Amino acid sequence: MTQVFQRAKIVATIGPASSSDEVLHDLLKAGVDVVRLNLSHGDHESHSQVIRRVRRIADQQRKFIPVIADLMGPRYRLSTIEDGPRLLEAGQKVTFGEGDVDLPVEDAEFLDHLQMDERILIDNGLLELKVLSKLEGRVEAEVVHGGHVSTRKGINLPDTDLPFTISEKDRSDIAFAAREKVDFIAVSFVGGPEDLDAIRAVMSEHKSLIPLVAKLERAKVIENLVATVRSSDAVMVARGDLGVEVPIHQVPVLQKKIINAGRRWGKPVIVATQMLESMMTQPRPTRAETSDVANAVFDGADALMLSGETAAGKFPVQSVATMAGVIHEAETFRRPKALALDSKRPEFLVPLETEQKYLTGRDVHLEIPEVVTAAAVHACDRLNVSQIVAFSQGGFTARMIARYRPATPITVFSRNIEVARRVQLVWGAQPVLMDHPVNHHDEVVEAVDRMLVQRDLAQPGDTVIILMGDPIDKRPLTNLMRVHRVRPA
Ligand code: PEP
Repeated sequence: MTQVFQRAKIVATIGPASSSDEVLHDLLKAGVDVVRLNLSHGDHESHSQVIRRVRRIADQQRKFIPVIADLMGPRYRLSTIEDGPRLLEAGQKVTFGEGDVDLPVEDAEFLDHLQMDERILIDNGLLELKVLSKLEGRVEAEVVHGGHVSTRKGINLPDTDLPFTISEKDRSDIAFAAREKVDFIAVSFVGGPEDLDAIRAVMSEHKSLIPLVAKLERAKVIENLVATVRSSDAVMVARGDLGVEVPIHQVPVLQKKIINAGRRWGKPVIVATQMLESMMTQPRPTRAETSDVANAVFDGADALMLSGETAAGKFPVQSVATMAGVIHEAETFRRPKALALDSKRPEFLVPLETEQKYLTGRDVHLEIPEVVTAAAVHACDRLNVSQIVAFSQGGFTARMIARYRPATPITVFSRNIEVARRVQLVWGAQPVLMDHPVNHHDEVVEAVDRMLVQRDLAQPGDTVIILMGDPIDKRPLTNLMRVHRVRPA
């Protein structure tokens, strides 16, 4: 009996409730595949300690756990509200901006971009103002939806054409992420591909090629969805801010559209925020939350993310165990719908920058790995295959196979620990780090025989499909599919 694997992955945000050795150990045991650090909170020293701890505990548990460093991005906030919380009533006129105003803001640069009639949303959209007039360093606004307002509440400006800016904090956080060699950097409030390019330009100052997770949370990025997905390395449905920036009833449909776009272009998609929110304070989730988790699995998400539940909640380990249980039940019931074979034009597919460094020349024929991976998935439907093994130099082949969400488990053999960690974000992919170099495809087959059986991923006599680029020393993209019967040691 070989092991059963969870296909959709779990991302856990680490914070005060989960940064100790004990809780991290239990979180990984409970099923966390990926760790996220929210750089909006905490300092570099404490994040660095968490990264070291995660790597040590992952080693102890013989797991590969990638770390996502999540940049704060251009987030706007109110500054101190004297005598707050203060009640604002619908119809009331208020001043908003710098200096002696009713609602002072922390960083006033964005004020120049506000136009008449645009909405100012405060505290996750609970309060809404409408701009009536613009003055020097401030605007006058009317309260549309009132409520209590207090110090440092977040501001969203869904109607305003805001430029993407990279703050000094983000620059210092990018330098930190590069120094720590985190596995992904998540970019908040991306508006389009050019914003990812701007972050990559800063990263290049640090000679860093860390893959970028584009957080899709602005109305503007939804208009640029395909271009943004194509130029990202992975995407996140950041439902918290997205649900403020677009009408909230659109969020479930956007989640499906984003997941479909990610699958089409072979980019992992993380569904984030409020998945088990009630478990911040309660040991059991609501029924609606369990349905939300299961539906993200049915939608075909690569990964599901916990935020406050694991970072600051009372039940971080139970949250992960609950999510793992719901994922398991959902996957046992039904696999996400398969992407139709041969339906997409392969020349549009783009390898990640991090993968490109493994590619030989400029003349890269992506049709070849695309056709070979499609053939492998087709073969799994015809033969009784227990594993698709991708011998991967950069992770591209794993993403290409995962597009089809096959029933057969995907195992990625790699010589590179960074690749082993990164494929953890890919639906259904499990990494195996090879223990010695290989120079010929027969040596890959020998390693597959030995390591699959050692890890209880297959038994002698099982049929497996092995994908690789041959000749290995020339490092071509995947061009070879071998249907192989696992041999006894
Ligand atoms: C979100 O808005 O849903 C999100 C994940 O971003 P953050 O946690 O940084 O607010």
